[in-house]
Amino acid sequence: MLAVQRVAARTMMRSAVVPWYRAFSVSAMARAIPDPGPPGTTGPNLLSPVHDQLNVHRDHELPKYRHPRPPKKEVDYSEGPSALEKAGQLFLFTELCRGLWITLENFFRPPYTILYPFEKGPMSPRFRGEHALRRYPTGEERCIACKLCEAICPALAITIESEPRADGARRTTRYDIDMTKCIYCGLCQEACPVDAIVETQTLEFATETREELFYNKEKLLANGDRAEAEIASNIYADHLQR
Ligand code: SF4
Ligand code: SF4
Repeated sequence: MLAVQRVAARTMMRSAVVPWYRAFSVSAMARAIPDPGPPGTTGPNLLSPVHDQLNVHRDHELPKYRHPRPPKKEVDYSEGPSALEKAGQLFLFTELCRGLWITLENFFRPPYTILYPFEKGPMSPRFRGEHALRRYPTGEERCIACKLCEAICPALAITIESEPRADGARRTTRYDIDMTKCIYCGLCQEACPVDAIVETQTLEFATETREELFYNKEKLLANGDRAEAEIASNIYADHLQR
């Protein structure tokens, strides 16, 4: 029994001590043998496997990045707050109080936001919204079917068909705008020689179906009849720029 205990103790000692001894001897050997220098100068580099294994790098393999230290700056303490002022700010919470004062000021200011759609902000007379076809005060359509708007439309959203009437005047028989194609560039309005097609300030014309955005002549004329006063005043407000 005693012999078995001795053998077991010896085995444990070996398993604990031998790996430490081996590691120590290899690292000591790597330190003891001088670096032979770069390969090709002093013969074969016999130590490189050991160095690689121990992750030891030789000096000539490491790039030397040595930047000169920046000169120390002299701090001028005569500028800025004094120590007393800093202590006052720290212990009297002056910065916190100033921040709270700004919050209080803004609390009693009128809000910058509006309660859309119940409140609406100002709108430019040049705003380009929903399209409309206008009439003269006599009720006659302004459009003379020249098709300039159709030609200039970059989105190819306008389709016009026309024919001469009995009195010889040319009028449209079909005037469609595909509002799903329109990019609201306003070129049709600019091209029209008689201010017949215009873009109103109406911007709330969202629909539930795509088909509702294919405007025909009746829909455009109805838009014009509804918003004629607004359109006329906007055109007048913009007449100096046009
Ligand atoms: S606003 Fe522009 S894209 Fe829309 S119909 Fe007029 S020309 Fe075409
Ligand atoms: S809306 Fe104006 S540009 Fe277009 S066809 Fe009629 S008159 Fe010509």
